Amino acid sequence: MSVPFLDLAADHLPLAEPFRAAFDEALASSGFIGGQAVTRFEQSFAKFCGVNHTVGVANGTDALELILRAASIGPGDEVIVPTNTFVATAEAVVAAGATPVFADVDAHTLLITPESADAVLSERTAAIMAVHLYGQTVDMVALSAWADRHGLAVFEDAAQAQGAEDGGRRSGGLGLAAGFSFYPGKNLGALGDAGAVTTNDPDLADRVRCLANHGRAAGHHHHVMVGRNSRLDALQASLMSIKLEHLDDWNEHRRQRWGQYLERLCGVDGVRPVAQRPGATPVHHLAVIECDQRDVVREKLSEVGVDTGIHYPVPCHLHPAFARWAGEEPLPVAEAAAARLLSLPMFPTLTEGQVDEVVDELATVLKELR
Ligand SMILES: *Cc1c(COP(=O)(O)O)cnc(C)c1O
Repeated sequence: MSVPFLDLAADHLPLAEPFRAAFDEALASSGFIGGQAVTRFEQSFAKFCGVNHTVGVANGTDALELILRAASIGPGDEVIVPTNTFVATAEAVVAAGATPVFADVDAHTLLITPESADAVLSERTAAIMAVHLYGQTVDMVALSAWADRHGLAVFEDAAQAQGAEDGGRRSGGLGLAAGFSFYPGKNLGALGDAGAVTTNDPDLADRVRCLANHGRAAGHHHHVMVGRNSRLDALQASLMSIKLEHLDDWNEHRRQRWGQYLERLCGVDGVRPVAQRPGATPVHHLAVIECDQRDVVREKLSEVGVDTGIHYPVPCHLHPAFARWAGEEPLPVAEAAAARLLSLPMFPTLTEGQVDEVVDELATVLKELR
């Protein structure tokens, strides 16, 4: 039996009929940009996150960049980002004209903390981008308290955390604004690229919407800002409205499978699952462990048909693209973790049998290597 890392087809096959109906509707109406389908999705996603405003955009990276632009963060401003994240977090800061400053992460959760952010605080720090990595929220109460003391804006990169909660409150409404990605592999994915900004600030929502639609304000030919095109397609919005109805169930299924991983991994030497933060209810976008001899283990698992991933093999500040923004000091926790991280298969239709299979194979490989 082989276990894939991800099985998108299994999510989509049962929804093929409603997807086709949504496509027929789009074809019949020729309403491809904006309109009812986008509004309907924006309203449902706002409700899902428990926020007042959602603005659909083209992808998650744009969502983050547009938030920064709408908040007037740009040249001369530093934005603290964790180095253990997908590079898009830092790309968005650069795209907005601001300076990314990389922070280390907590050794147990691998998330940014007030302490790790404080270590790279400067007079030019304007904001912090909290990344809810692997589907677990950053401690936003502690981070916001720290940020308030220093007059910083707190934003969320919630690309991996649709539905994740911190003290019972959902990601998307835990900072000034949040950026979501609906890249197909995310917990809620489009059938293509898509993203969204969520916020409770009506002015920020208006500015993001305006920037994402060529700086248009009141009318089609009335441009009040130099914006760009970063819109959510109507067809993607329709397809995601169909998927959104299943997201709570899918997330619950991921939680159960992660619980099973934790139980089974208990007796396995040489692995350490990423810790769950007290008060957090993660949505387990990824099932990440730290593992001895990671590269050999990964290779051997692949030989027996178990697909795994690494998120991420290189911390952002060590990529050539970001070298000019890397600080003088090492970021030891993230640097050490990068060599040990291993992402196990995780998706909504993953079965108990498949989790057992993954852990059995992992235990066997580790035993052989000892
Ligand atoms: C996927 C992802 C993004 C970028 O989203 P795109 O839709 O691919 O642009 C940003 N941050 C994190 C943490 C992500 O996982």
